[in-house]
Amino acid sequence: MVWLRSELEFASSKPARRDERADVRPVAMPRVLVIEDEHDIATLLALHLRDMNLSASVVGNGREGLRRALNERWDLILLDLSLPELDGVDICRQLRATNHYTPVLMLTARSTEQDRVSGLDAGADDYLSKPFSVVELRARVRAILRRVQQLRNTPAASPPIHCIGELEIDLAARRVRRGNLELTLTAREFELLAHFVCHPGRVFSRTQLLDQVWGLSQDAYEHTVSSHINRLRAKLEPDATNPRYLLTVWGVGYRFMER
Ligand code: CA
Repeated sequence: MVWLRSELEFASSKPARRDERADVRPVAMPRVLVIEDEHDIATLLALHLRDMNLSASVVGNGREGLRRALNERWDLILLDLSLPELDGVDICRQLRATNHYTPVLMLTARSTEQDRVSGLDAGADDYLSKPFSVVELRARVRAILRRVQQLRNTPAASPPIHCIGELEIDLAARRVRRGNLELTLTAREFELLAHFVCHPGRVFSRTQLLDQVWGLSQDAYEHTVSSHINRLRAKLEPDATNPRYLLTVWGVGYRFMER
């Protein structure tokens, strides 16, 4: 019964603090779609989301979940990995194949690294392993909504298309080309690249990237930053072993080449 821990914590959890509500207020009643087939977990998620002043709609089946995800505007999708008819990874891939970007927080009862990585590779922005604590759930939801708000504010303040060397990065359309080659980036790889591009020449440590791009503060996840940097280099760089765009600043972190 994977929901047991969550339910117990929910039973003992306090109502949302005022500062927690203030955190999500700029996103004017964000709409969250919950695609989860376990009724108790879905109910628990919806209760907490509504308590955070978010609107929550619940769907218990993968195919119907994908249909609603594609046909309505959402600020966040909480997506279970194992679902009847269509699983979470397939839903996420199909969402990412469209031009419209909606953040996805993957919920998984599986806990192997490969399961987590396949969710992230399919384009999920973050994941939570069941059983999860409601405190962590609320923190992740707040972090994603905050990041999306920042990202939505970014393109208006800077040119929509950045040309750096052979790279052409269209922040608004979320498209990247190197010469004539269209590159396929995961959602997180794109956010990481956008973060560098919006701060030309600035050096970021792994801890800063983890905080500013992932919304996480645990040092334990720093290897995640390194692996995303490596994957981004493999896609962007003509020679990933000798990077010319995404540069290592030894002992400090990384910076992106200025145009
Ligand atoms: Ca399930």
